[in-house]
Order: sequence, then structure tokens, then C-alpha cells
Amino acid sequence: MTSASVRNDLRIELAELRAANLYKPERPLASPQSPRVTIDGTEVLNFCANNYLGLADHPAVIDAAKQALDDQGFGMASVRFICGTQHLHTNLESRLSTFLGTEATILYSSCFDANVGVFATLLDERDAVLSDHLNHASIIDGIRLSKARRHRYRDLTDLETQLASTRTARRRLVVTDGVFSMEGSIAPLREICALADRYDAMVMVDDSHAVGITGPTGAGTPELLGVQDRVDIVTGTLGKALGGASGGYVSGHAEIVDLLRQRSRPYLFSNALPPVIAAGALTALDLATDPARREALHQNTATFRAQMTRAGFHVLPGEHPIVPVMFGDAGEAVRIADRMLRSGVYVTAFSYPVVPMGKARIRVQLSSEHSRDDLDQCVEAFLAARYD
Ligand SMILES: *Cc1c(COP(=O)(O)O)cnc(C)c1O
Repeated sequence: MTSASVRNDLRIELAELRAANLYKPERPLASPQSPRVTIDGTEVLNFCANNYLGLADHPAVIDAAKQALDDQGFGMASVRFICGTQHLHTNLESRLSTFLGTEATILYSSCFDANVGVFATLLDERDAVLSDHLNHASIIDGIRLSKARRHRYRDLTDLETQLASTRTARRRLVVTDGVFSMEGSIAPLREICALADRYDAMVMVDDSHAVGITGPTGAGTPELLGVQDRVDIVTGTLGKALGGASGGYVSGHAEIVDLLRQRSRPYLFSNALPPVIAAGALTALDLATDPARREALHQNTATFRAQMTRAGFHVLPGEHPIVPVMFGDAGEAVRIADRMLRSGVYVTAFSYPVVPMGKARIRVQLSSEHSRDDLDQCVEAFLAARYD
């Protein structure tokens, strides 16, 4: 009977989510991830993937993955330190270190796991973490698993106050997303690093939405803002610009990476990345170093942002290919996204609890592989849905 009553409670909770337009449905794609995808038998333009460089279905990435499948097998059936390490893993780790300009890199099954592994390994009750209030859920959960004192900062003034009030801590770590995923805004890393210098704190950046696309060589926000040498720890995902499959990493000082290999639980107690994915990611990384893709992405971003602003939409300012189009009301954002899908343009509405209550938005994400016609069609679909 207990189980029946729990199930009843859960049904009520789900009904409440639906009533508040907060229920998130899933739409199966019948095609590879690409600027054009097939949903319910219809081809639509896709503006909601993290496929910034169009590598998720790139033939060279697929070929590399197929080759690895033949040569290296399907899975490792082991964690890394028992018998789950191939040269593909160590090659990918050293390639990432070179790309990011760091001493060493350790792979995880996801960036979520990377963030869950890092805090508890480096910090205990003698230490303090200072975390931006907009940070990704995986950072929040990772911090929760450590015994460090937790502080959430809202802005730089707040951060400085908290740095001043945690002087007695043994270690202090300031952690921020490089790019905030719901805002498309870039963290003020220069200012954060200057404060960290003044108060002798470490700096960690989760660059999942920036790696491969931001900065002169695509090395991310620390490169963009000229603080690569000051940032102690960078985490990131292989599940966005870098091929979009899965996998994540922690990169930084050799001692940190070494200790994570010995102590961090999602690394020690979870399977090694499949060879297919390591091989695909290596090729994705090669392709990501071609500046032409990044330039096409930034051109598309600038064009789309200008078009939408001219069309009278409220777009959060910035230069990132995440373009939040603000509606406020969750019902309105969902209604517009639904109408746009019917007219062949796939975008996603985000509402509470992913963004604050009353700040619902449609988050458009551009790819280097969208054409000018694709962008025009997206803007027209926004206009048609708004005035429908
Ligand atoms: C997407 C994202 C993650 C999660 O990455 P996975 O590899 O999919 O687990 C973590 N942090 C940030 C900031 C992200 O945007």
C-alpha cells in the first residue's frame, strides 16, 4: 500500500509540472544529429544542439570511430587502472593537454563525472569553495560531495567579500562556468583571477560550452581572456563542440591530475571511455583546430543576433552561439517553440527550474554548418509564431 500511495503522490507531482508548463517532453530524432534532423517523419532545421562545429555526424569522425571499433573493440569492460587503458586514452589525454595549454589531463565518462570527482579529491573541511550562483548542476553536486565550506557568489563584489571572509581556510577554490549555458555570457575570468591572486585562491573553470569554439585557437575562455597560465583547473566535455558523443576531462597541474587518478571516485569506480568515442574525439579535436569552422560559427552568431534584434526580439547580449530569446512567461515560450516546430524550425523553450521563475526563454544555438538561408528561416519562424 505504501508503494501505491507513493505512486499516487508522484502522479500528482507530475500533473503539477504539466499544469505549470514545466514538464519537458522528449522528441526522438530519426536521423543523426545535424543542422537538419528528422522528427516524426519530417525534416526540420535544428537550432538546439550543442553541435557548434557540426562534428557530431562528420564523416571523418565517423570513420575514425568505425576504425577503432574494428581495431580496438567495442568496450573496455574495466576501469582505467585495472585493464581499461588503451593508447587511445593516453593519446587523447595528451592531445587535450596540448590543445588546452595545460600540463596534464584526465578523462572521465562525462563532464558531469569530472565535476563530481574534483572537489572531494582536493578539498575537505579545512577548505572553502566559492561558486558562481549560475554554475552548472554538476558543479553544485560535486561541491555537495566534498566537505569544504560552500559559498555562492552573485557577482565580483560578492566574491571579494567571501574571499576576505574565508582567509582562515587552508585552500580556497573559486569555480565558475566559462560560459553560462542559459545566458550565453562569458565569465569575467580576468577579474576573477586578479581577485584570486590577491587572496591566494585557486581558480577552476568548467569550459564545456566554450572548448573548441572560444578563444583564438578554440582553447576556451581562459585563452580568450588571456588567463590560461593563471587558471589552475579546467574541466570540459567532449559532448558538445568536440564531436558531441560523450566524455569529459579535468585538465591542469600535473599533481592535481595525478591525485585525481588515485582518488577521484567517478574515475576509479566507473568504466573507461569506449575506444570508439576516444578515437572519434581525437579526430574531432583535429577538425576543431581548423579556424575556418570557428570563423563560420562566429559569423553565423553575429548575423543571427543582429537579425533577431532588428526583428524586435529581446536577445540577451553577447557573442556566444548560445542566443537566449527572452519571453518571460513559460507558457508563451512553449507556445512559440511549438509553433516554430510546426513550421519546420526546432528550438527549445526553457523555464523554471532550469532558469529563474518568470525568465522563460527560447535558447537558440548556432552551428558553423547552418547556412544563411537556415538563419533567415529561423528568424521568419520566430516572427510568424509571435504574430500568429
Ligand atoms: C554540458 C555541461 C556539462 C555536462 O557535460 P557532460 O559531458 O554531458 O556530462 C557540465 N558542465 C557544463 C557547464 C555544461 O555545459
